[in-house]
Amino acid sequence: MKNLVLFGPPGAGKGTQSEKLIARYGFVHISTGDIFRYHIKNKTELGDRVQAYLDNGLLVPDQVTIDMLQEEVAKNPEAKGFLFDGFPRTVPQAEALDAFMEGIHSAIHYVIALNVTEEEVRTRIEKRREISHRIDDEAEKVDKRISEYFSKTVHVLPHYEAQGRLQRVQGIGEIETIFQDICSILDA
Ligand code: AMP
Repeated sequence: MKNLVLFGPPGAGKGTQSEKLIARYGFVHISTGDIFRYHIKNKTELGDRVQAYLDNGLLVPDQVTIDMLQEEVAKNPEAKGFLFDGFPRTVPQAEALDAFMEGIHSAIHYVIALNVTEEEVRTRIEKRREISHRIDDEAEKVDKRISEYFSKTVHVLPHYEAQGRLQRVQGIGEIETIFQDICSILDA
Protein backbone atom coordinates (compact mmCIF):
# COMPACT_ATOMS: atom_id res chain seq x y z
CA MET A 1 0.00 0.00 0.00
CA LYS A 2 1.41 3.38 -1.06
CA ASN A 3 0.15 6.54 0.55
CA LEU A 4 0.44 10.06 -0.72
CA VAL A 5 0.03 13.46 0.86
CA LEU A 6 -0.83 16.14 -1.66
CA PHE A 7 0.18 19.48 -0.32
CA GLY A 8 -0.42 23.09 -1.32
CA PRO A 9 -2.31 26.27 -0.47
CA PRO A 10 -6.08 26.54 -1.00
CA GLY A 11 -6.65 26.77 -4.74
CA ALA A 12 -3.36 25.06 -5.64
CA GLY A 13 -5.19 22.40 -7.64
CA LYS A 14 -5.17 19.61 -5.05
CA GLY A 15 -8.79 18.66 -5.80
CA THR A 16 -8.26 18.58 -9.57
CA GLN A 17 -5.05 16.55 -9.36
CA SER A 18 -6.57 14.24 -6.74
CA GLU A 19 -9.37 13.26 -9.11
CA LYS A 20 -6.89 12.38 -11.85
CA LEU A 21 -4.61 10.48 -9.47
CA ILE A 22 -7.51 8.44 -8.10
CA ALA A 23 -8.64 7.53 -11.62
CA ARG A 24 -5.13 6.36 -12.49
CA TYR A 25 -3.90 4.73 -9.28
CA GLY A 26 -7.06 3.83 -7.36
CA PHE A 27 -6.21 5.72 -4.21
CA VAL A 28 -8.88 6.18 -1.55
CA HIS A 29 -9.30 9.95 -1.41
CA ILE A 30 -9.38 11.54 2.01
CA SER A 31 -10.05 15.25 1.75
CA THR A 32 -10.58 16.64 5.24
CA GLY A 33 -12.18 19.79 3.79
CA ASP A 34 -14.71 17.70 1.79
CA ILE A 35 -15.49 15.56 4.85
CA PHE A 36 -16.07 18.61 7.04
CA ARG A 37 -18.32 20.15 4.38
CA TYR A 38 -20.27 16.89 4.14
CA HIS A 39 -20.86 16.91 7.91
CA ILE A 40 -21.93 20.55 7.87
CA LYS A 41 -24.31 19.95 4.99
CA ASN A 42 -25.85 16.95 6.74
CA LYS A 43 -26.01 18.74 10.08
CA THR A 44 -24.20 16.03 12.01
CA GLU A 45 -22.80 16.58 15.48
CA LEU A 46 -19.30 16.94 14.02
CA GLY A 47 -20.70 19.37 11.45
CA ASP A 48 -22.06 21.57 14.25
CA ARG A 49 -18.71 21.52 16.03
CA VAL A 50 -16.67 22.55 13.02
CA GLN A 51 -19.00 24.91 11.19
CA ALA A 52 -17.72 28.12 12.80
CA TYR A 53 -14.14 27.28 11.86
CA LEU A 54 -14.98 26.67 8.22
CA ASP A 55 -17.24 29.72 8.14
CA ASN A 56 -14.33 31.85 9.26
CA GLY A 57 -11.59 30.19 7.21
CA LEU A 58 -9.85 28.96 10.37
CA LEU A 59 -8.24 25.60 10.97
CA VAL A 60 -10.35 23.09 12.89
CA PRO A 61 -8.57 22.07 16.13
CA ASP A 62 -5.99 19.34 15.63
CA GLN A 63 -7.55 16.67 17.79
CA VAL A 64 -10.97 16.93 16.12
CA THR A 65 -9.33 16.70 12.71
CA ILE A 66 -7.00 13.84 13.64
CA ASP A 67 -9.83 11.78 15.18
CA MET A 68 -11.96 12.26 12.11
CA LEU A 69 -9.12 11.32 9.79
CA GLN A 70 -8.35 8.14 11.69
CA GLU A 71 -11.99 7.11 11.48
CA GLU A 72 -11.98 7.64 7.71
CA VAL A 73 -8.84 5.55 7.30
CA ALA A 74 -10.31 2.79 9.46
CA LYS A 75 -13.44 2.71 7.26
CA ASN A 76 -11.28 1.60 4.32
CA PRO A 77 -9.30 -1.46 5.43
CA GLU A 78 -9.09 -2.74 1.84
CA ALA A 79 -7.56 0.46 0.46
CA LYS A 80 -4.68 0.04 -1.98
CA GLY A 81 -3.42 3.40 -0.82
CA PHE A 82 -4.65 6.70 0.54
CA LEU A 83 -4.41 10.11 -0.98
CA PHE A 84 -4.51 12.68 1.80
CA ASP A 85 -5.70 16.02 0.48
CA GLY A 86 -5.74 18.98 2.89
CA PHE A 87 -4.22 16.95 5.70
CA PRO A 88 -1.87 17.34 7.56
CA ARG A 89 -2.05 21.12 7.91
CA THR A 90 -0.08 21.51 11.14
CA VAL A 91 3.02 19.86 12.54
CA PRO A 92 1.04 18.05 15.31
CA GLN A 93 -1.24 16.64 12.58
CA ALA A 94 1.80 15.46 10.61
CA GLU A 95 3.26 13.81 13.71
CA ALA A 96 -0.08 12.18 14.52
CA LEU A 97 -0.33 10.88 10.96
CA ASP A 98 3.17 9.38 11.10
CA ALA A 99 2.37 7.63 14.38
CA PHE A 100 -1.00 6.45 13.16
CA MET A 101 0.35 5.04 9.88
CA GLU A 102 3.12 3.27 11.75
CA GLY A 103 0.46 1.80 14.06
CA ILE A 104 -1.27 0.22 11.06
CA HIS A 105 2.10 -0.96 9.69
CA SER A 106 2.13 1.56 6.93
CA ALA A 107 3.69 4.94 6.20
CA ILE A 108 3.43 8.10 4.15
CA HIS A 109 5.46 7.22 1.08
CA TYR A 110 5.16 10.41 -0.92
CA VAL A 111 4.60 14.03 -0.04
CA ILE A 112 4.05 16.12 -3.12
CA ALA A 113 3.81 19.89 -2.74
CA LEU A 114 2.20 21.91 -5.51
CA ASN A 115 4.16 25.15 -5.79
CA VAL A 116 1.76 27.98 -6.57
CA THR A 117 2.21 31.66 -5.84
CA GLU A 118 -0.15 33.50 -3.54
CA GLU A 119 -1.26 35.74 -6.40
CA GLU A 120 -2.22 32.76 -8.60
CA VAL A 121 -4.09 31.11 -5.73
CA ARG A 122 -6.18 34.23 -5.14
CA THR A 123 -7.11 34.48 -8.83
CA ARG A 124 -8.11 30.82 -8.95
CA ILE A 125 -10.26 30.95 -5.81
CA GLU A 126 -12.00 34.01 -7.21
CA LYS A 127 -12.93 32.01 -10.32
CA ARG A 128 -13.95 28.93 -8.32
CA ARG A 129 -16.26 31.04 -6.18
CA GLU A 130 -18.22 32.01 -9.28
CA ILE A 131 -18.69 28.38 -10.34
CA SER A 132 -19.00 26.23 -7.24
CA HIS A 133 -20.40 28.39 -4.44
CA ARG A 134 -18.27 26.64 -1.84
CA ILE A 135 -19.20 27.94 1.58
CA ASP A 136 -15.62 28.83 2.40
CA ASP A 137 -14.67 30.52 -0.86
CA GLU A 138 -16.28 33.85 0.01
CA ALA A 139 -13.94 36.81 -0.32
CA GLU A 140 -13.54 37.61 3.36
CA LYS A 141 -12.66 34.01 4.19
CA VAL A 142 -10.11 33.60 1.45
CA ASP A 143 -7.65 35.95 3.12
CA LYS A 144 -7.95 34.03 6.35
CA ARG A 145 -7.50 30.64 4.68
CA ILE A 146 -4.45 31.81 2.80
CA SER A 147 -2.92 33.32 5.93
CA GLU A 148 -3.65 30.10 7.88
CA TYR A 149 -1.72 28.29 5.17
CA PHE A 150 1.26 30.63 5.24
CA SER A 151 1.36 30.96 9.05
CA LYS A 152 0.74 27.34 10.08
CA THR A 153 0.61 24.88 7.25
CA VAL A 154 3.91 25.73 5.52
CA HIS A 155 5.69 24.52 8.66
CA VAL A 156 4.64 20.99 7.77
CA LEU A 157 6.99 21.04 4.75
CA PRO A 158 10.26 20.98 6.75
CA HIS A 159 8.83 18.05 8.74
CA TYR A 160 8.67 15.95 5.56
CA GLU A 161 11.77 17.50 4.06
CA ALA A 162 13.74 16.25 7.08
CA GLN A 163 12.39 12.77 6.39
CA GLY A 164 13.55 13.04 2.77
CA ARG A 165 10.00 12.52 1.50
CA LEU A 166 9.13 15.94 0.17
CA GLN A 167 8.95 16.47 -3.58
CA ARG A 168 7.96 19.78 -5.12
CA VAL A 169 6.03 20.09 -8.35
CA GLN A 170 5.41 23.29 -10.28
CA GLY A 171 1.67 23.87 -9.77
CA ILE A 172 1.22 26.60 -12.39
CA GLY A 173 0.69 25.50 -15.96
CA GLU A 174 -1.41 22.96 -17.82
CA ILE A 175 -3.36 20.56 -15.60
CA GLU A 176 -2.12 17.65 -17.71
CA THR A 177 1.55 18.70 -17.44
CA ILE A 178 1.29 19.01 -13.67
CA PHE A 179 -0.40 15.62 -13.55
CA GLN A 180 2.39 14.02 -15.59
CA ASP A 181 5.00 15.55 -13.27
CA ILE A 182 3.24 13.97 -10.29
CA CYS A 183 2.91 10.63 -12.08
CA SER A 184 6.61 10.55 -12.86
CA ILE A 185 7.36 10.81 -9.15
CA LEU A 186 4.89 8.02 -8.31
CA ASP A 187 6.07 5.79 -11.15
CA ALA A 188 9.79 6.24 -10.51
P1 AMP B 1 -10.06 22.70 2.19
O1 AMP B 1 -11.23 22.30 1.36
O2 AMP B 1 -9.01 21.63 2.28
O3 AMP B 1 -9.47 24.03 1.78
O4 AMP B 1 -10.58 22.88 3.70
C1 AMP B 1 -11.66 23.75 4.00
C2 AMP B 1 -11.67 24.08 5.49
O5 AMP B 1 -11.81 22.89 6.27
C3 AMP B 1 -10.40 24.74 6.02
O6 AMP B 1 -10.42 26.15 5.79
C4 AMP B 1 -10.49 24.39 7.50
O7 AMP B 1 -11.48 25.18 8.16
C5 AMP B 1 -11.03 22.96 7.45
N1 AMP B 1 -9.95 21.96 7.34
C6 AMP B 1 -9.72 21.10 6.31
N2 AMP B 1 -8.67 20.31 6.54
C7 AMP B 1 -8.19 20.68 7.76
C8 AMP B 1 -7.09 20.25 8.54
N3 AMP B 1 -6.25 19.28 8.13
N4 AMP B 1 -6.91 20.85 9.76
C9 AMP B 1 -7.74 21.81 10.19
N5 AMP B 1 -8.78 22.29 9.48
C10 AMP B 1 -9.01 21.72 8.28
